[in-house]
Amino acid sequence: AFDVLVVGGGPAGAAAAVYAARKGIRTGVAAQRFGGQVLDTMSIENLISVPHTEGPKLAMALEQHVKEYDVDIMNLQTATGLARKGDLVEVTLESGAVLKSKSVILSTGARWRQMNVPGENEYKNKGVAYCPHCDGPLFKGKRTAVIGGGNSGVEAAIDLAGIVAHVTLIEFDTKLRADQVLQDKLRSLPNVTIIMNALTTEVTGDGTKVNGLAYRDRTTGEDHHVALEGIFVQIGLLPNTDFLKGTVDLSPRGEIIIDAHGATSMDGVFAAGDCTTTPYKQIVIAMGLGATAALGAFDHLIRTSVP
Ligand code: FAD
Repeated sequence: AFDVLVVGGGPAGAAAAVYAARKGIRTGVAAQRFGGQVLDTMSIENLISVPHTEGPKLAMALEQHVKEYDVDIMNLQTATGLARKGDLVEVTLESGAVLKSKSVILSTGARWRQMNVPGENEYKNKGVAYCPHCDGPLFKGKRTAVIGGGNSGVEAAIDLAGIVAHVTLIEFDTKLRADQVLQDKLRSLPNVTIIMNALTTEVTGDGTKVNGLAYRDRTTGEDHHVALEGIFVQIGLLPNTDFLKGTVDLSPRGEIIIDAHGATSMDGVFAAGDCTTTPYKQIVIAMGLGATAALGAFDHLIRTSVP
């Protein structure tokens, strides 16, 4: 059995594996796709001390750092179940294999909900973005849209309005769902247009980058086109935790509930990164939480298991 088994190989999982392995304990990582969301990212400019890098390069560096240690990396493995059996925690894989460990760190990350309209995938990272903290500055002085009028959409629009030339916020419903204080702030900004009751129908582009957005007015049925350079999709971040239902406690949004040590509701099971209730989902934060969960797991091991 492992001492620490990490499920997920993004920034959180990699940090957890390095921290666990440095304690000289048996560490394994099972990941569907080592590197995680970072693999889908172009430029990264907010990993402190690294002014600029690219996703695939960072993913490679994460893996290389983990490989400096004696860690059993099981890539292309999907966990489908978790259960406590006596002194051990069992993680079932899609292949049918069952991995046993004295402690487990869940770091399965999250994925952005997509609009699923023509052009969205084609122009991802070419004008279609999901993270205003990450990509906002790339659109300095340009025109952008934000899709979604919940808290994250309205926060993104307020944030972007301070950087870009103009923001068009598009909401499907007849009203915004964001907190009133955010709505008031948004409406006070001179360079923001709010369009409600509108269904985004297409991301348009010139073949290399976004040049606009098509939407249908749901009241009149009329189609419109807005010329712009960037589109931030803010219609939800979905944690990869479906396989955990009925095991560890999840928030109403499906995020794994953790305490300050990264501990979950199941004894010996810790969690880190975008799959948890941490309010901000960023690489530097995921790495910090990965380290926290590994130290939390180590504290648990020295208290519970016979050396
Ligand atoms: P993830 O990176 O999502 O990794 C999750 C890991 O778990 C993966 O290895 C995955 O394959 C694996 N996994 C999932 N389910 C299972 C399962 N059932 N069994 C086994 N393994 C599983 N953040 C920044 O700080 N700066 C940026 O510039 C930035 N740009 C971004 C751009 C894009 C396009 C995207 C999508 C995100 C960006 N982010 C950025 C956010 C950042 O990528 C995430 O906050 C970070 O990757 C979270 O790390 P994580 O380890 O928690 O999860």
